[in-house]
Amino acid sequence: MQPLTNRSKVVVKKEMTLLEKMYLPAIFNGMMITFKHMFKKSATIRYPEQKREFSEIYRGHHVLKRDDNGAERCTACGLCAVSCPAEAITMQAAERKEGEEKLYREEKYAATYEINMLRCIFCGLCEEACPKEAIFLTDRLVPTEFERNDFVFGKDKLVEKMDDRIDVTKRQTQAVLDFKQNNKYSHNKLK
Ligand code: SF4
Ligand code: SF4
Repeated sequence: MQPLTNRSKVVVKKEMTLLEKMYLPAIFNGMMITFKHMFKKSATIRYPEQKREFSEIYRGHHVLKRDDNGAERCTACGLCAVSCPAEAITMQAAERKEGEEKLYREEKYAATYEINMLRCIFCGLCEEACPKEAIFLTDRLVPTEFERNDFVFGKDKLVEKMDDRIDVTKRQTQAVLDFKQNNKYSHNKLK
């Protein structure tokens, strides 16, 4: 048969020796490895009783931020979805109506916004792509679910609650924080 690559190797099936047929040396070697590990510090922890300390910029569960007045920052521009290598983000844009200024910061907003957590690889590119500081990855863990559909997180799970705000300043560079303080930019003015 014509090989597809030149990486294939010919495997020689050699006859086992008597010792090998008894499997005793292999079992002994295996037991020695187990025994050695009994005296080493365990690499695992008893989660959830024990929790590891996360890095300040750990990339976990996403949050869709609100501004200080409680309006959703996301303007449904789609840049996060385009930059997502796993194609995990989908959304539907809608136009803000009169009287909804307190709900949505911009004239266009995300009527639906979904992230498929089974697809997400927590790379953080959506966060980097967002021009409105609307999406951030946080140190919260994605909860376990039993059904595949339950891993598609909508706005009910993503949008920040005003009584449980999430501090993302540690994820922002000094240049971004300085920019946000500068009232010269209309983007920063409280509406
Ligand atoms: S963290 Fe990466 S993979 Fe996950 S939604 Fe954002 S861009 Fe996509
Ligand atoms: S989260 Fe940011 S990048 Fe994504 S649609 Fe909203 S404003 Fe655009």
